Amino acid sequence: MKGFLGVDVGSVSTNIVVINENGEVLAEKYLRTNGRPIEVVQEGIHEVGRELNGEVEIASAGTTGSARFLASMIIGADVVKNEITAHAVAASAVVPGVRTIIEIGGQDSKIIILRDGVVTDFAMNTVCAAGTGSFLDQQASRLLIPIEEFGNYALKSKNPVRIAGRCAVFAESDMIHKQQLGYNIEDIIAGLCEALVRNYMNNVGKGKEILEPVIFQGGVAANAGLVQAFNKYLNTKVTVPPHFAVMGAIGAALLAKEAYAKKKGTNFKGFNLRDIKFVTNSFECKGCSNACEVVQFFQNGELLARWGDRCGKWELQTA
Ligand code: SF4
Repeated sequence: MKGFLGVDVGSVSTNIVVINENGEVLAEKYLRTNGRPIEVVQEGIHEVGRELNGEVEIASAGTTGSARFLASMIIGADVVKNEITAHAVAASAVVPGVRTIIEIGGQDSKIIILRDGVVTDFAMNTVCAAGTGSFLDQQASRLLIPIEEFGNYALKSKNPVRIAGRCAVFAESDMIHKQQLGYNIEDIIAGLCEALVRNYMNNVGKGKEILEPVIFQGGVAANAGLVQAFNKYLNTKVTVPPHFAVMGAIGAALLAKEAYAKKKGTNFKGFNLRDIKFVTNSFECKGCSNACEVVQFFQNGELLARWGDRCGKWELQTA
Protein backbone atom coordinates (compact mmCIF):
# COMPACT_ATOMS: atom_id res chain seq x y z
CA MET A 1 0.00 0.00 0.00
CA LYS A 2 1.22 3.53 -0.74
CA GLY A 3 1.61 5.98 2.13
CA PHE A 4 2.53 9.63 2.50
CA LEU A 5 4.67 10.77 5.40
CA GLY A 6 4.32 14.11 7.17
CA VAL A 7 6.71 15.35 9.87
CA ASP A 8 6.13 18.51 11.91
CA VAL A 9 9.05 19.46 14.18
CA GLY A 10 8.49 22.31 16.60
CA SER A 11 10.33 23.36 19.73
CA VAL A 12 7.89 21.51 22.01
CA SER A 13 6.55 18.60 19.99
CA THR A 14 7.53 16.48 17.02
CA ASN A 15 4.57 14.99 15.20
CA ILE A 16 4.75 12.25 12.60
CA VAL A 17 1.88 10.85 10.55
CA VAL A 18 1.44 8.53 7.62
CA ILE A 19 -1.71 8.81 5.52
CA ASN A 20 -3.00 6.64 2.72
CA GLU A 21 -4.12 7.71 -0.72
CA ASN A 22 -7.54 8.67 0.65
CA GLY A 23 -5.97 10.94 3.26
CA GLU A 24 -6.83 8.56 6.13
CA VAL A 25 -4.34 8.42 9.00
CA LEU A 26 -2.50 5.06 9.13
CA ALA A 27 -0.02 5.99 11.87
CA GLU A 28 0.30 8.93 14.21
CA LYS A 29 2.97 9.94 16.72
CA TYR A 30 3.03 12.92 19.07
CA LEU A 31 6.44 13.17 20.71
CA ARG A 32 8.21 15.70 22.90
CA THR A 33 11.09 17.34 21.04
CA ASN A 34 13.02 17.86 24.30
CA GLY A 35 15.70 19.88 22.54
CA ARG A 36 16.81 16.75 20.61
CA PRO A 37 15.04 17.07 17.24
CA ILE A 38 17.43 14.80 15.33
CA GLU A 39 17.15 11.85 17.73
CA VAL A 40 13.40 12.30 18.20
CA VAL A 41 12.76 12.29 14.45
CA GLN A 42 15.01 9.24 13.99
CA GLU A 43 13.28 7.34 16.80
CA GLY A 44 9.79 8.44 15.75
CA ILE A 45 10.25 7.40 12.13
CA HIS A 46 11.64 4.07 13.26
CA GLU A 47 8.63 3.52 15.56
CA VAL A 48 6.18 4.41 12.81
CA GLY A 49 7.93 1.98 10.45
CA ARG A 50 7.66 -0.76 13.07
CA GLU A 51 3.93 -0.08 13.54
CA LEU A 52 3.28 -0.19 9.80
CA ASN A 53 5.06 -3.54 9.72
CA GLY A 54 6.35 -3.32 6.16
CA GLU A 55 2.84 -2.98 4.75
CA VAL A 56 3.23 0.62 3.63
CA GLU A 57 5.67 2.00 1.12
CA ILE A 58 6.31 5.75 1.49
CA ALA A 59 5.65 7.32 -1.90
CA SER A 60 6.45 10.87 -0.82
CA ALA A 61 7.39 12.75 2.35
CA GLY A 62 6.89 16.30 3.58
CA THR A 63 8.10 18.37 6.54
CA THR A 64 6.88 21.46 8.32
CA GLY A 65 7.40 23.27 11.64
CA SER A 66 10.16 25.55 12.88
CA ALA A 67 12.77 22.80 12.28
CA ARG A 68 11.34 21.78 8.90
CA PHE A 69 14.64 22.22 7.03
CA LEU A 70 16.51 20.10 9.53
CA ALA A 71 13.72 17.48 9.44
CA SER A 72 13.76 17.43 5.64
CA MET A 73 17.50 16.70 5.67
CA ILE A 74 17.05 13.89 8.18
CA ILE A 75 14.21 12.06 6.47
CA GLY A 76 14.83 13.01 2.83
CA ALA A 77 11.71 15.08 2.23
CA ASP A 78 10.17 15.81 -1.15
CA VAL A 79 8.33 18.91 0.03
CA VAL A 80 9.04 21.47 2.78
CA LYS A 81 6.37 24.01 3.77
CA ASN A 82 5.80 26.48 6.58
CA GLU A 83 3.34 25.71 9.40
CA ILE A 84 0.70 28.17 8.20
CA THR A 85 0.35 26.38 4.87
CA ALA A 86 0.46 22.92 6.45
CA HIS A 87 -2.22 23.75 9.04
CA ALA A 88 -4.41 25.39 6.43
CA VAL A 89 -4.17 22.39 4.09
CA ALA A 90 -5.00 19.92 6.87
CA ALA A 91 -7.92 21.98 8.22
CA SER A 92 -9.37 22.43 4.73
CA ALA A 93 -9.29 18.67 4.25
CA VAL A 94 -11.32 18.13 7.45
CA VAL A 95 -13.76 21.01 7.02
CA PRO A 96 -13.89 22.09 3.38
CA GLY A 97 -14.53 25.81 3.25
CA VAL A 98 -13.07 26.45 6.73
CA ARG A 99 -12.60 30.21 7.18
CA THR A 100 -10.92 30.49 10.58
CA ILE A 101 -8.28 28.25 12.16
CA ILE A 102 -7.44 28.66 15.83
CA GLU A 103 -4.21 26.80 16.58
CA ILE A 104 -2.80 26.60 20.09
CA GLY A 105 0.22 24.47 20.75
CA GLY A 106 2.71 23.94 23.53
CA GLN A 107 4.51 27.26 23.28
CA ASP A 108 2.79 29.37 20.69
CA SER A 109 -0.57 30.15 19.24
CA LYS A 110 -1.73 31.29 15.86
CA ILE A 111 -4.76 32.27 13.89
CA ILE A 112 -5.16 31.60 10.19
CA ILE A 113 -7.84 33.27 8.11
CA LEU A 114 -8.89 31.63 4.86
CA ARG A 115 -11.27 32.77 2.18
CA ASP A 116 -12.25 30.43 -0.64
CA GLY A 117 -9.61 27.95 0.47
CA VAL A 118 -6.77 30.50 0.31
CA VAL A 119 -4.87 31.89 3.33
CA THR A 120 -5.57 35.63 3.34
CA ASP A 121 -4.22 36.56 6.77
CA PHE A 122 -2.54 35.05 9.80
CA ALA A 123 -0.91 36.01 13.07
CA MET A 124 1.33 34.20 15.51
CA ASN A 125 2.08 34.78 19.14
CA THR A 126 5.30 33.34 20.45
CA VAL A 127 5.81 35.90 23.20
CA CYS A 128 2.98 35.61 25.73
CA ALA A 129 2.85 32.27 27.51
CA ALA A 130 -0.75 32.67 28.72
CA GLY A 131 -3.00 30.43 26.67
CA THR A 132 -0.33 28.03 25.53
CA GLY A 133 -0.14 24.37 26.45
CA SER A 134 2.85 24.80 28.73
CA PHE A 135 1.04 27.45 30.83
CA LEU A 136 -1.99 25.18 31.20
CA ASP A 137 0.30 22.28 32.17
CA GLN A 138 1.87 24.47 34.87
CA GLN A 139 -1.48 25.55 36.28
CA ALA A 140 -2.83 22.00 36.27
CA SER A 141 0.18 20.73 38.18
CA ARG A 142 0.01 23.69 40.61
CA LEU A 143 -3.62 22.75 41.33
CA LEU A 144 -2.68 19.04 41.51
CA ILE A 145 -5.12 18.17 38.73
CA PRO A 146 -4.08 15.88 35.85
CA ILE A 147 -4.03 18.01 32.67
CA GLU A 148 -6.41 15.54 30.98
CA GLU A 149 -9.00 16.38 33.66
CA PHE A 150 -8.55 20.14 33.51
CA GLY A 151 -11.23 20.73 30.88
CA ASN A 152 -13.76 18.53 32.65
CA TYR A 153 -13.45 20.64 35.79
CA ALA A 154 -14.26 23.71 33.70
CA LEU A 155 -17.34 22.01 32.25
CA LYS A 156 -18.73 21.47 35.76
CA SER A 157 -18.58 25.18 36.56
CA LYS A 158 -21.84 27.07 37.06
CA ASN A 159 -20.37 30.56 37.54
CA PRO A 160 -16.93 31.06 36.00
CA VAL A 161 -14.85 33.53 38.01
CA ARG A 162 -13.38 36.49 36.16
CA ILE A 163 -9.61 35.90 35.94
CA ALA A 164 -7.20 38.54 34.62
CA GLY A 165 -5.70 36.97 31.50
CA ARG A 166 -3.59 39.80 30.17
CA CYS A 167 -0.43 37.76 30.66
CA ALA A 168 0.66 34.54 32.31
CA VAL A 169 1.98 36.26 35.45
CA PHE A 170 -1.27 38.18 36.03
CA ALA A 171 -3.39 35.11 35.33
CA GLU A 172 -1.49 32.98 37.81
CA SER A 173 -1.48 35.56 40.62
CA ASP A 174 -5.16 36.31 40.06
CA MET A 175 -5.99 32.59 40.22
CA ILE A 176 -4.13 32.29 43.52
CA HIS A 177 -5.99 35.35 44.82
CA LYS A 178 -9.36 33.87 43.82
CA GLN A 179 -8.45 30.56 45.48
CA GLN A 180 -7.65 32.45 48.68
CA LEU A 181 -11.04 34.16 48.47
CA GLY A 182 -12.61 30.71 48.54
CA TYR A 183 -14.02 30.34 45.04
CA ASN A 184 -14.47 26.72 44.04
CA ILE A 185 -11.90 25.15 41.78
CA GLU A 186 -14.33 24.41 38.90
CA ASP A 187 -15.30 28.08 38.65
CA ILE A 188 -11.66 29.17 38.81
CA ILE A 189 -10.62 26.77 36.04
CA ALA A 190 -13.58 27.79 33.86
CA GLY A 191 -12.64 31.42 34.53
CA LEU A 192 -9.06 30.69 33.51
CA CYS A 193 -10.27 29.11 30.24
CA GLU A 194 -12.35 32.21 29.51
CA ALA A 195 -9.40 34.47 30.36
CA LEU A 196 -7.15 32.54 28.00
CA VAL A 197 -9.68 32.85 25.19
CA ARG A 198 -9.93 36.64 25.79
CA ASN A 199 -6.13 36.81 25.83
CA TYR A 200 -5.96 34.90 22.52
CA MET A 201 -8.61 37.06 20.88
CA ASN A 202 -6.91 40.29 22.07
CA ASN A 203 -3.50 39.15 20.82
CA VAL A 204 -3.43 36.91 17.76
CA GLY A 205 -7.14 37.44 17.05
CA LYS A 206 -6.94 41.24 17.23
CA GLY A 207 -8.47 42.92 14.19
CA LYS A 208 -9.23 39.61 12.50
CA GLU A 209 -12.61 38.90 10.96
CA ILE A 210 -13.62 35.58 12.51
CA LEU A 211 -16.07 33.84 10.20
CA GLU A 212 -17.51 30.33 10.40
CA PRO A 213 -16.66 27.53 10.00
CA VAL A 214 -14.07 27.74 12.77
CA ILE A 215 -11.62 24.91 13.51
CA PHE A 216 -9.72 24.65 16.81
CA GLN A 217 -6.56 22.54 16.60
CA GLY A 218 -3.19 22.00 18.27
CA GLY A 219 -2.53 20.09 21.48
CA VAL A 220 -4.56 22.52 23.62
CA ALA A 221 -7.75 21.63 21.72
CA ALA A 222 -7.86 18.52 23.96
CA ASN A 223 -9.08 20.86 26.70
CA ALA A 224 -12.89 20.76 26.65
CA GLY A 225 -13.00 23.84 28.88
CA LEU A 226 -11.25 25.94 26.26
CA VAL A 227 -13.46 24.56 23.50
CA GLN A 228 -16.49 25.63 25.53
CA ALA A 229 -14.95 29.05 26.21
CA PHE A 230 -14.29 29.62 22.49
CA ASN A 231 -17.87 28.54 21.66
CA LYS A 232 -19.17 31.04 24.18
CA TYR A 233 -16.89 33.92 23.16
CA LEU A 234 -17.40 33.49 19.43
CA ASN A 235 -21.05 32.52 19.80
CA THR A 236 -20.53 29.66 17.39
CA LYS A 237 -19.55 26.01 17.54
CA VAL A 238 -15.86 25.46 16.91
CA THR A 239 -14.93 22.11 15.36
CA VAL A 240 -12.14 20.09 16.92
CA PRO A 241 -10.82 17.68 14.26
CA PRO A 242 -10.19 14.03 15.23
CA HIS A 243 -6.39 14.33 14.91
CA PHE A 244 -6.26 17.87 16.37
CA ALA A 245 -2.77 17.51 17.89
CA VAL A 246 -1.00 16.49 14.67
CA MET A 247 -2.67 18.68 12.04
CA GLY A 248 0.62 20.24 10.93
CA ALA A 249 2.03 16.78 10.18
CA ILE A 250 -1.18 15.81 8.38
CA GLY A 251 -0.86 18.96 6.28
CA ALA A 252 2.75 18.05 5.43
CA ALA A 253 1.62 14.55 4.43
CA LEU A 254 -1.18 15.95 2.26
CA LEU A 255 1.30 18.30 0.58
CA ALA A 256 3.60 15.33 -0.03
CA LYS A 257 0.67 13.50 -1.62
CA GLU A 258 -0.02 16.51 -3.83
CA ALA A 259 3.66 16.66 -4.85
CA TYR A 260 3.58 12.95 -5.71
CA ALA A 261 0.59 13.47 -8.01
CA LYS A 262 2.71 15.92 -10.01
CA LYS A 263 6.02 14.09 -9.90
CA LYS A 264 6.54 10.46 -8.95
CA GLY A 265 9.56 9.34 -6.92
CA THR A 266 10.77 10.17 -3.44
CA ASN A 267 13.93 11.18 -1.57
CA PHE A 268 12.70 9.43 1.59
CA LYS A 269 15.62 7.65 3.27
CA GLY A 270 13.54 4.84 4.75
CA PHE A 271 12.37 3.93 8.25
CA ASN A 272 15.82 2.81 9.44
CA LEU A 273 17.07 6.30 10.11
CA ARG A 274 18.43 5.23 13.48
CA ASP A 275 21.42 3.68 11.70
CA ILE A 276 22.51 6.99 10.18
CA LYS A 277 24.66 9.42 12.12
CA PHE A 278 23.45 13.00 11.75
CA VAL A 279 25.33 15.91 13.27
CA THR A 280 24.80 19.66 13.13
CA ASN A 281 27.08 22.49 14.13
CA SER A 282 26.98 26.19 13.53
CA PHE A 283 29.20 29.21 13.13
CA GLU A 284 28.69 32.94 12.93
CA CYS A 285 29.35 34.45 9.52
CA LYS A 286 31.41 37.63 9.75
CA GLY A 287 30.74 38.62 6.13
CA CYS A 288 28.56 41.59 7.12
CA SER A 289 26.76 43.16 10.07
CA ASN A 290 23.91 40.61 9.85
CA ALA A 291 26.23 38.14 11.60
CA CYS A 292 24.06 35.18 10.52
CA GLU A 293 24.27 31.96 12.45
CA VAL A 294 24.92 29.38 9.76
CA VAL A 295 23.98 25.79 10.55
CA GLN A 296 25.87 22.90 8.94
CA PHE A 297 24.32 19.48 8.60
CA PHE A 298 26.39 16.30 8.30
CA GLN A 299 25.26 12.78 7.46
CA ASN A 300 27.79 10.06 8.36
CA GLY A 301 30.50 12.73 8.37
CA GLU A 302 29.58 14.19 4.98
CA LEU A 303 28.45 17.83 4.80
CA LEU A 304 25.00 17.73 3.22
CA ALA A 305 23.61 21.22 3.68
CA ARG A 306 23.93 24.62 5.26
CA TRP A 307 21.21 27.09 6.13
CA GLY A 308 20.63 30.24 8.15
CA ASP A 309 22.58 32.54 5.82
CA ARG A 310 20.32 35.37 4.79
CA CYS A 311 22.18 36.16 1.57
CA GLY A 312 22.77 32.61 0.32
CA LYS A 313 26.56 32.98 0.61
CA TRP A 314 27.01 29.61 2.33
CA GLU A 315 24.10 27.78 0.75
CA LEU A 316 25.87 28.02 -2.58
CA GLN A 317 28.67 25.91 -1.14
CA THR A 318 26.33 23.08 -0.20
CA ALA A 319 27.99 19.78 -0.92
S1 SF4 B 1 25.65 34.96 5.46
FE1 SF4 B 1 25.50 36.75 4.15
S2 SF4 B 1 24.03 38.09 5.15
FE2 SF4 B 1 24.70 36.59 6.68
S3 SF4 B 1 26.41 37.56 7.73
FE3 SF4 B 1 27.30 36.33 6.08
S4 SF4 B 1 27.49 37.75 4.38
FE4 SF4 B 1 26.07 38.69 5.85
